Amino acid sequence: APDAVQRIAKKLGKVVVVGEATPAPEAAPTAPKTAPAEKPFAVAAGAGTAAPKGAPRTAVGKGKPTDSVPRPPVVTIMGHVDHGKTSLLDYLRKAHVVDGEAGGITQHIGAYQVEIDGKRITFLDTPGHAAFSAMRKRGTSVTDIVIIVVAANDSVMPQTEEAIQVALKAKVPIIVAVNKCDLPEANPDKVLTDLTRYELVPEAYGGTVPTVNISAKTGDGIDDLLEAILLVSEIEVDPKADPHAKMQGTIIEAKVDKGRGTVATVLVQQGTLRQGDNVVAGGVFGKVRGMTDERGTKLVKAGPSSPVEIIGLNGVPDAGDRIEVAKDEKEARALAERREQRKREDRLTGGGKLTLEQLYAQLHSGPIKELNLVIKADVQGSVQAIRDSVEPLGNDEVRVRVLSTGVGPISDSDVLIASADHQADEKNCLIVGFNVGTAGNVTKNAEKEHVQIKIFSIIYELIDAVKEGMLALLPPIF
Ligand code: GDP
Repeated sequence: APDAVQRIAKKLGKVVVVGEATPAPEAAPTAPKTAPAEKPFAVAAGAGTAAPKGAPRTAVGKGKPTDSVPRPPVVTIMGHVDHGKTSLLDYLRKAHVVDGEAGGITQHIGAYQVEIDGKRITFLDTPGHAAFSAMRKRGTSVTDIVIIVVAANDSVMPQTEEAIQVALKAKVPIIVAVNKCDLPEANPDKVLTDLTRYELVPEAYGGTVPTVNISAKTGDGIDDLLEAILLVSEIEVDPKADPHAKMQGTIIEAKVDKGRGTVATVLVQQGTLRQGDNVVAGGVFGKVRGMTDERGTKLVKAGPSSPVEIIGLNGVPDAGDRIEVAKDEKEARALAERREQRKREDRLTGGGKLTLEQLYAQLHSGPIKELNLVIKADVQGSVQAIRDSVEPLGNDEVRVRVLSTGVGPISDSDVLIASADHQADEKNCLIVGFNVGTAGNVTKNAEKEHVQIKIFSIIYELIDAVKEGMLALLPPIF
């Protein structure tokens, strides 16, 4: 076994070393203690640089020191379905509320903060479903640390592996929470052994990856997990941001609320967001008319690593969109327009790009069939996740073209968009809805226009239906 560990240790260049407390195995001289090579969103604290800890921190892109101060680490929980991600997030939400306020966190805004020993940690509360891995990938890019939850009765499963790959690729420090240790059949040791097959060598095996045995059901070990997060944060990440810098953040979630208009959750990453600020978020803009935290408390300002819900945007931004403060409304509008245009262009070129092989195949076998798709869902995060899941589908004969996406019920204009470029005898357009209904006479109109509408509450089924729709466009094979 030591041999195996040493072999894996050689690969440790990829795995984050957790500071002095856990020296790298001697056999790994080629594996220096590397800080994550790239942390796209580790704002201010040397964003985008490979500066190892201890190197001077510089302002973003400018090379001049900032007035950076420590900020809470931002943590994402990933893992296989049913391994306990939701239970862990729920437990934390109840047990470690900031200021020990009774009642806990009542609102689901997509992120929240907990407090331990007077220190805060921000958790992203994104859906843990496998098919949301596209959004998770976005999730990790705002994340300082990834917790991978592995159930001790099940050990490493396909989505665990996927989560490990995503985290390694993002070069984010990983902590493994071995969950369900309360079960009699729990076998945490097997989890640790299995992890070594995926370039994660647990500290217990002389490696660098902290693992913590927990039960999201009883709460056992969860304090240890939080301590581990703080330790990794301090030693490995050293998250800092300048509260006086120009405000920058990321949209975590966005939706339309009947009474309040667009409601968006913002993770502030640099600077301070204030009520009344003019902001631009992706292709939309607005004035922050109101701001609340995850407990529904009204705020007038929010600093780095704070998740806040804001109202006042003139449209629904995409999850993962950057949000910034603009000088005034005019600047906000201009920036939004420019960004929207760039997004549109990206979609056109990105969605339409053919590989040489595809082009060759197209030249020799007639045009590529396209399934024209309109995507509607209840929240922007789901829209984006669906889009990211279906767009890569296809081969040199058939592919998906997303005509439009949106939040809210399927409407007549969706039918109009879907049918615009459509012959009645063809089945080449489809409207898919996720957790939404249809407005008014939409179903009838869709029938008239020969547009299919399919509504789902399970994302796998939606994706399968898109695949079926694509297959239906191909000539039958006899
Ligand atoms: P997710 O799909 O990863 O979000 O998993 P959930 O949090 O929904 O948990 C899946 C199931 O495992 C639920 O029935 C939970 O009650 C159960 N569960 C989660 N954590 C624990 C735990 O620590 N111990 C036990 N015994 N059951 C757990």
